[in-house]
Amino acid sequence: MNIGTEIEAARRKAAEVIRKSGITITYAEAAAIEVADFGLGNLPREGAQILTFFNSKRVSAKVIVLFPTQTLPEHWHPPRGDDPGKEETIRVVAGMAYCLVPGDDTLRHASIPEGKEECYTCRQEVVMKPCDQITFEPGTKHWLQAGPEGAVLYSLSTQTTDAEDKFSDPDIARIPSRRKKR
Ligand code: ZN
Repeated sequence: MNIGTEIEAARRKAAEVIRKSGITITYAEAAAIEVADFGLGNLPREGAQILTFFNSKRVSAKVIVLFPTQTLPEHWHPPRGDDPGKEETIRVVAGMAYCLVPGDDTLRHASIPEGKEECYTCRQEVVMKPCDQITFEPGTKHWLQAGPEGAVLYSLSTQTTDAEDKFSDPDIARIPSRRKKR
């Protein structure tokens, strides 16, 4: 599929899934959903659809859509100057999500993308259903994967500076410079 077509299809599908979950959004918000493949070119497996409601100098509210088994790659939010880094709470609105954090290996449901064991070091799995939430302290590594039905999540956090996020996968470019302007 042409990359532009794939992104547009993902954006449309994400808007549909968000609305179906009961979250109301405007047409402008739907059109502004970010489709992130993290520069890996494998959106269905490693990627995320992100709608930002607002991102002020202090706080941020977003909705993240993960399609069935789609994985938000392992990352962490590093300190910036006097700021310890982004603190983030993920709350499940719809679907099942597997959240992987540092700790004992309890990975049962999520699956590490093929051949990428070294890029997914967090193996303690938290199985989350609607209304479950988890908070990542600044600097804590985490990755997320949707269950078989996909998932809609709130991401509520201190200010986000996506370009500064760190990823375990050296091939990832969070804001790919080669991403085409639409
Ligand atoms: Zn995060």
